[in-house]
Order: sequence, then structure tokens, then C-alpha cells
Amino acid sequence: MHCIQNIDEMRQLATSWRKDGFSIGFVPTMGALHDGHVSLIQKARENQRVIVSIFVNPRQFGANEDFSRYPRKPHEDCAICKKHGVDAVFMPHADALYQYDDGIRILAPLAMSNVLEGAIRPGHFDGVLEVLTRFFHIIQPTRAYFGRKDAQQLLIVQRMVYEWFWNLEIIGCEIIRDAHGIALSSRNAYLSDDGYRNAQKIAQSTRFLEQAIKAGECDFAKLKAKSLTILSPLEIDYFCAIDYNLKEVQTLTKHNLIVKAVRIEGVRLLDSVWIL
Ligand code: AMP
Repeated sequence: MHCIQNIDEMRQLATSWRKDGFSIGFVPTMGALHDGHVSLIQKARENQRVIVSIFVNPRQFGANEDFSRYPRKPHEDCAICKKHGVDAVFMPHADALYQYDDGIRILAPLAMSNVLEGAIRPGHFDGVLEVLTRFFHIIQPTRAYFGRKDAQQLLIVQRMVYEWFWNLEIIGCEIIRDAHGIALSSRNAYLSDDGYRNAQKIAQSTRFLEQAIKAGECDFAKLKAKSLTILSPLEIDYFCAIDYNLKEVQTLTKHNLIVKAVRIEGVRLLDSVWIL
């Protein structure tokens, strides 16, 4: 497995693979890898080569967010990647990736990015797109893999690739949960035992939603009312039903999803239920 920090080296390796006719699956991550990331890697192995980036992207963190304390475990991460058949891990330096303080900026579409996560984290999705455009240019992957847990991110990235006629397929991947049904997240590590127990309410509300939707309930007001009783007394940042353009819907149909963010001990936990 190649471990690469240098951008030119990464570009040359990916170019040589493409010249050899290999398809390239790309999994962008911020590291502290868990089974959610591993599931993306496994899916990416439908390509002939797999590249994982590990980069805690400063541009997607707000001034008061957890950039400096975000877990960093490069050695464990590389071992996980190696174990799961990754061909190259790309770990660039921020200074090399962002060469200019006053560089070209990218703005996510406002209607998709100033709601939900974006309303709470202004500029977050601009930062996500700024790092992904660089990675997509350096690697030029055939396919890139994103978790449905970060629903808004996945939809905005899909929009960017579509809007810019990018020759790249964005694959949304299922949400991986622990034994209690809690969506795995690198930030779960911030929770105390008590906080973790409370997070199980999120899993409970997800289970309820999945079952009720499967049984044919499509009235979002009813689904929300019951979910809020399950989640009580947790602090809810948002709980919405949306379509793929991030527009709110009241009656659920195919290609809608319910997204929620809950705050426990200051940690924001995301989960979503997709009607595919
Ligand atoms: P992160 O390292 O948090 O930036 O996540 C990197 C990628 O892994 C993103 O596409 C996430 O949506 C995805 N991911 C994180 N947690 C999970 C999970 N529990 N299940 C599936 N995908 C996940």
C-alpha cells in the first residue's frame, strides 16, 4: 500500500493507474476510521484501485468548532486501510493543498447549503467542496464514495458533480450502525457513558421511522410527533423531511429522506432515513 503526502506523487500514481486502464474508487475521509469508513472502502473495491484520503480539512470547520481536538490516528488508520485492501492512502499537508490565503473560492448553492447543517455551520459546505474539488482534480477517480449519514453533504456533492459535468460517479452508501443502532461517527468518541446511553434514543427514533414508513405511513407530521416523544428530552437541532434538492416536504414519497441532528453533551450527532 502506498502512503502518500506529496500531491504530485499522488497525481502521478493515479495517472499511471488510469493509463493502465484501471478504474479508481476514491473514499474521502477525515480519518479516525471506523466500520462506517470501512464499508465505503469495501464498496469502493468494485474498482480496480482504491484510494483513501485522510485529511482533517480546516476549511470545513467553523472558528468555534472542534478542528484542533478532532481525533487524529494516522497509524491506526493506515493499518485499517492496509487490512482492507486499499492501494493508496493520501494524506496531504494543508499548506500544500491550500496554497493561497486569497485563493479561488467555491460556494455551495445557497438553497442547499444555508439550511440544516449549513444553517448551524455557516461555510461548512463551501469548505467541503473546496477540498473535494482539489481531490477530484488530483486523483480523477472513476467513482467516489460517501455515506448517507452525512445526507446534506452527499446531496450537495452530487449536485456539484452534475452541475459541473464532472466525469465521475458519486455513490451514496448505507449508514453503518453499532450494536445499539447508533450511526458510527468519529465524534461518538467525545460522548461520556451517559451521553452514549442517551444517543440510543436517536437509534430508537430511527428504528421507529423505518418501521412506520415501511408500514406505509407517509404523513411527516405524524412521524415527527412520535419521533419527538422518543427523542425527548434531547436537544434537537433539526428534524425535517426533504427531497434531493433539500426542499422540505410534508408527504413522503420515493427519493425523500428524513434528516435529524441531535446535540448531546455539546456533540452534534446526525442520522437520516432514506426512502430510496
Ligand atoms: P468523515 O471522516 O466523518 O468525514 O466521513 C468520511 C465519509 O464516511 C463520509 O462520506 C461519511 O458520510 C462516511 N461515514 C461516516 N460515518 C458513517 C457511517 N456510520 N456509515 C456510513 N458512512 C459513514
